[in-house]
Amino acid sequence: KERRLKELKGKESITKSGRKVNLYANIGNVADTGKVLQNDGEGIGLFRSEFLYLEAKDFPTEEEQFTAYKAVAENMAGKKVIIRTLDIGADKQVDYFHLEKEENPALGYRAIRICLKEQEMFKTQLRAILRASAFGNISIMFPMIVSVEELRQAKELLEEAKRELEEGGIPFKEIETGVMIETPAAVIISDELGKEADFFSIGTNDLTQYTLAADRQNPMLDESMNPRHPAVLKMIEMTAESAHRNHIWVGICGELGADIELTETFLKYGIDELSVSPSRILEVREKIRSLEY
Ligand code: PEP
Ligand code: MG
Repeated sequence: KERRLKELKGKESITKSGRKVNLYANIGNVADTGKVLQNDGEGIGLFRSEFLYLEAKDFPTEEEQFTAYKAVAENMAGKKVIIRTLDIGADKQVDYFHLEKEENPALGYRAIRICLKEQEMFKTQLRAILRASAFGNISIMFPMIVSVEELRQAKELLEEAKRELEEGGIPFKEIETGVMIETPAAVIISDELGKEADFFSIGTNDLTQYTLAADRQNPMLDESMNPRHPAVLKMIEMTAESAHRNHIWVGICGELGADIELTETFLKYGIDELSVSPSRILEVREKIRSLEY
């Protein structure tokens, strides 16, 4: 099998009938780009930027973040790199944020909710991402969005960050701005979100947790939970329909995206991109290439 998969390096992720899928990878730090290139990933569909914060003793500076994002962009040499803005809180706690202990952290103060409150911290990250955009093909996406207002606020802060860079004469590119669809609310309003976003990326890990009211961290639920639950699949289908009605592309970056039992279903829904762990890329490519669809 190893040999068979190796032979798929350099080949396209395309079905027998010519339907092309963008097959990207999820990474958590700069070094992971090595694994992506080794497995012939076509881009980075999810760069979990939290590691910069989790590994540090204090807020990472704009310069530190810029260096990391630039390195990823350069390593990927023009291939798409989608950076997900800070997704801290819930299961990912950082001391120097001094967050209060919560009864239900997964339903609490996390991700974009923190970023829209701590605007200077957020803009530091946005400036770092924008600056790195000059060195490659970078896009940005926001996690845990539940309303159009949140998306508008996040985009307004991105515009402010651009103005600040412009004033300093610092170069950046115009970048695609996407929304992670990982709450049932975002699915339900995806038609509205699609009017103000350049793409959707479905985070099935959180979307499953919130749709099935099942803590993704609770091992007691592992066996009773069906990751291919029809409600979750319906959510994915609805999101894809909204995306295409608004003429934007839609991908999946949660674990479910690598489930080859579902690849054909995803293609039927019109999913344009799958972002999976680097170690799963070739397996998914093999599946795509075996389909008539
Ligand atoms: C998800 O929720 O599916 C996702 C891709 O993001 P994370 O696993 O980092 O929450
Ligand atoms: Mg998530």
